[in-house]
Amino acid sequence: MRDKLFINGEWHLPLKGGRFPVVNPATEEIIADAPAGTAEDINTAVRAARVAFDHGPWPKLSGRERAGYLRAMAARIEERTQDLARLEVLDNGKPLPEAVWDIEDTAGCFRFYADLAEELDANPEEVIPLGDDRFSSRVVREPVGVAGAIIPWNYPLLMAAWKVAPALAAGCTMVLKPSELTPLTALELGAIAEDAGLPAGVLNIVTGLGPDAGQPLSEHPGIDKLAFTGSVPTGSRIMAAAARDIKNVSLELGGKSPFVVFADSDIDKAVEWIMFGIFWNQGEVCSATSRVLVEESLYPALLTRLVEETKKISIGNGLDDGTLLGPLVSKGQYDKIHAMIERGVSGGARIATGGKRPEGLQKGYFLEPTILTDMSEDNIVWREEIFGPVVCVKPFRDETDAIRMANDSRFGLAAAVMSDDLDRCERVARAFKAGIVWINCSQPTFTEAPWGGYKQSGIGRELGKWGLSNYLEVKQITAFDKNETWGWYLK
Ligand code: NAP
Ligand code: MG
Repeated sequence: MRDKLFINGEWHLPLKGGRFPVVNPATEEIIADAPAGTAEDINTAVRAARVAFDHGPWPKLSGRERAGYLRAMAARIEERTQDLARLEVLDNGKPLPEAVWDIEDTAGCFRFYADLAEELDANPEEVIPLGDDRFSSRVVREPVGVAGAIIPWNYPLLMAAWKVAPALAAGCTMVLKPSELTPLTALELGAIAEDAGLPAGVLNIVTGLGPDAGQPLSEHPGIDKLAFTGSVPTGSRIMAAAARDIKNVSLELGGKSPFVVFADSDIDKAVEWIMFGIFWNQGEVCSATSRVLVEESLYPALLTRLVEETKKISIGNGLDDGTLLGPLVSKGQYDKIHAMIERGVSGGARIATGGKRPEGLQKGYFLEPTILTDMSEDNIVWREEIFGPVVCVKPFRDETDAIRMANDSRFGLAAAVMSDDLDRCERVARAFKAGIVWINCSQPTFTEAPWGGYKQSGIGRELGKWGLSNYLEVKQITAFDKNETWGWYLK
């Protein structure tokens, strides 16, 4: 495992020499001692990214040339799918098949943005029709500059790709700070960049703790753009730091996403998608549909079936064959989620299944997949993000009631609706206050489609062409016909 920071195309020990332990959440064993970057390393990394942007070839390369590097990185990621996926399991705990899927998506993301980099060449400018034909106006797009990316631990390498790939495609250079809980694959991305021959300073990776490395990155005057994924409180700090010198900022924050199930739904399909919506990746998914609303007449039968199927989920080490639910990522998350369940129950919620450490798993941060019912709408478990395999299920009376309950949240990342009546699905989809809406499913995510939230779930969109726009400035170039005369002062 890499034990150095990747700065300016080279591997450096952190200037202050610090290290922090990386823990396998399935065994509680320390598996690595990662380099703890601090403000000094961030400063070196930002300077390298600054030089690579201001004086290096990177922003001046054609989109096609940059696409070549992105495709080389994609190929290397693909070749290393198995070892990267295993590293992700050791670091994060998720089941291996899910990690393999993440790595495939990571390679796909680099390929997708390689294509978009080439499109920048094909459409270098847009002509803007004006009402005055003495003028002609065009829009050109240019890279924003040096980007700082701060990412969470739930999809360690994929979250890096969502920021690194579009930034590099746009011609930006970047400093990436992964979560202290899952730094291992981000450092491998440095090795992948090195193998792909990426010019020095274009991508710099500094592992370290949030306040020691993330905070100085968000405050650094050499950064033009901040891209953050994580919790609302940290997002708010990032935005405050960006406000000081008006950095361009995009935020992907948390959610408490609803899944509205009407009584005409196929019960098997409903149970399948509800489970995928909350138990996939241990429910450590920003868009997890953690509030399930079921039409009254279907509620008893659906709940019975959901509990039955949930009890069958095999829990264990993500490296073991057949595991469908791994451990939570850390002791911190384990304690936080247990405490939230306790608060929910003391506030009146009932545990229909789960809520405790699974029998026979004495080590590791395991929690049974949990279904909570009978909570009031002001119960903490109904209102606040749990970020674990815990779902709240509640009955609703009618469509109006369902929409009101679904939208009654400070978050607005995702929402899902299931019904046999597609007109109704469409109506409800339009009524949701959320950036991502699923009909008759929950969670499938495509690199081509925009990702991001309403309300406190964030600002801006990642993925698709929107993800590329995050890293592009818009410049209008307007010319006055040299044969015309303006005639305001000089008549
Ligand atoms: P977090 O504590 O906000 O951490 C996110 C990142 O910010 C980590 O790299 C963290 O470093 C860093 N950080 C912490 N304090 C910082 C500071 N003062 N200044 C700058 N950076 C700082 O969130 P988390 O607990 O790791 O992740 C879970 C949250 O992320 C959930 O709320 C979830 O909804 C959200 N999330 C959202 C999306 C989305 O696409 N919308 C995707 C995934 C996760 P350390 O880890 O070293 O503390
Ligand atoms: Mg954290």
